[in-house]
Amino acid sequence: MSYNIAVDGPAGAGKSTIARAVAKELNIIYVDTGAMYRGMGLYMLRLGIDPEDEQAVIAHCDEADITLRYEDGVQVVCLNGENVNAYIRTEEVGAVTSRISVLPPVRKRITALQHELAASADCIMDGRDIGTCVLPHADVKIYLTASSEVRAKRRYDELTAKGQDCDLAQIQADMEERDYRDMHREVSPLRQAQDAVLVDTSDMTPEQVIERILELCEKKG
Ligand code: C5P
Repeated sequence: MSYNIAVDGPAGAGKSTIARAVAKELNIIYVDTGAMYRGMGLYMLRLGIDPEDEQAVIAHCDEADITLRYEDGVQVVCLNGENVNAYIRTEEVGAVTSRISVLPPVRKRITALQHELAASADCIMDGRDIGTCVLPHADVKIYLTASSEVRAKRRYDELTAKGQDCDLAQIQADMEERDYRDMHREVSPLRQAQDAVLVDTSDMTPEQVIERILELCEKKG
């Protein structure tokens, strides 16, 4: 049986930064499930499909073959064989992705790949429904969050560091809208699993969060 850590939480809570560091520390793989959904979002965006047009999204979702591979420990998302890591991190892709990921056929396709990965390797997997739906028997479950102000500021800093022009208030508004949709959708909404440990990172440094998670893994490991 492989060892699985599930990390869920809203956008900008620090999930990917923390999960990547914990994976390195424990020498396990990091599975960023948001990136898989983003690969699907990018596919729909490139086709020019309206993300609100459920029938069109469902009709095309089986055409998108999303796979993951690892290069020097870095997760590479492939969309029909193309490395799309450079295209999936925009706010535009994030907004489309949260709209299409409410649809059961989209989730079913991507969840199947997540199950395969978790069964075949020790991993830390982050997303919205990992502890509640994808890996309900994960060895350790964490719900990572922070205030929406802190999360928006982190995303703003991340984007401006990459040279992208952005507006802090707009980022916060978009993030709140996306979180609302993720938390209120019918299928696999974002929520804290009953047996997940809540970690509020608003006033914590990344190092403190990593240490806290490693402690939790030691206790349960
Ligand atoms: O984590 P990230 O911001 O990259 O995720 C992008 C979007 O993908 C989320 O807003 C959410 O709608 C969707 N997602 C999901 N289930 C997951 C991971 C991400 O629905 N396990």
